[in-house]
Amino acid sequence: MIRQKSFENEKPSLYLVPTPIGNLGEMTPRAIEVLQSVDVIACEDTRTSGQLLKYFDIDKRLISYQNFNEDSSAKGILNLLSQGKNVALISDAGYPLLSDPGQRVVSEASAEGYNVVPLSGCNAALNALVASGLIVQPYLFVGFLPSSQSDAIKKLNEYKNYPMTIIFYEAPHRIEKMLRSLLEVFKDRRICLARELTKIHEEIIRGTISEVLEVVSDLKGEMVVVVEGNRDDYEKDIDYSQLLRMVNESVERGMTTSDAIKDTAKKTGVSKNTIYDLVHSKERKENVC
Ligand code: SAM
Repeated sequence: MIRQKSFENEKPSLYLVPTPIGNLGEMTPRAIEVLQSVDVIACEDTRTSGQLLKYFDIDKRLISYQNFNEDSSAKGILNLLSQGKNVALISDAGYPLLSDPGQRVVSEASAEGYNVVPLSGCNAALNALVASGLIVQPYLFVGFLPSSQSDAIKKLNEYKNYPMTIIFYEAPHRIEKMLRSLLEVFKDRRICLARELTKIHEEIIRGTISEVLEVVSDLKGEMVVVVEGNRDDYEKDIDYSQLLRMVNESVERGMTTSDAIKDTAKKTGVSKNTIYDLVHSKERKENVC
């Protein structure tokens, strides 16, 4: 077991610093401060990150950290940490590691007992999730599907019975194909396509897969697809007496039945309609008795 008290030791640190996903106003003061304070910044593309750092007047040694040479990139960072240097890891946008390089160095640096310190900040998946209107908890973050169509379909089949919300990343030139595969495997569920998040052309489209397919050929920019989980199968396994108990307890605490149904739906992820039907069918039965 390794316990890290990030602010209470003198060990070298690897900082995980998120950067804006489009809107430079979302660079946090702490991110700037950490990038100014470290010895070296590891990034995916030194030219892309060089521009960002120049904008914020940060002049630091940049080294490249990429998936295709993750082994040697991680070794380089561990070597710096072993020399007592502090390193920040950034990606082109958003959080490092999330559909971006960084997993290897974080696993190894933390296993070796260095501080691995996360900063709060931008992430396209979370922006899309919280605005989707779909149930946000729990959720599954998948990121990009495999680029081969058959591998993508195979992956989607793995997720098709998953009852919770699922988040995918996709490139604009592949989005139509991706949505067609989604429709084929998941059938026509509710989704949210969020594009150009935090930028001037930000757009959030909420509808069924087939509705979004009708407009998809016009859509450009970076995109996230948030997909409703498989509620049918989930709702088959629901403990109905527990739901009724929750509604009754809320009513006993003074809520109206309608608010108690909404509250129970929010807490359990079961649809309001299902709980409504359950409560009112019980009432009907009691009236008959
Ligand atoms: N690490 C990043 C993060 O934390 O969000 C993700 C990097 S991944 C290589 C890039 C993908 O993230 C894009 O293809 C798109 O799916 C999504 N993305 C990034 N910025 C976005 C934005 N402003 N609006 C919508 N999606 C975005």
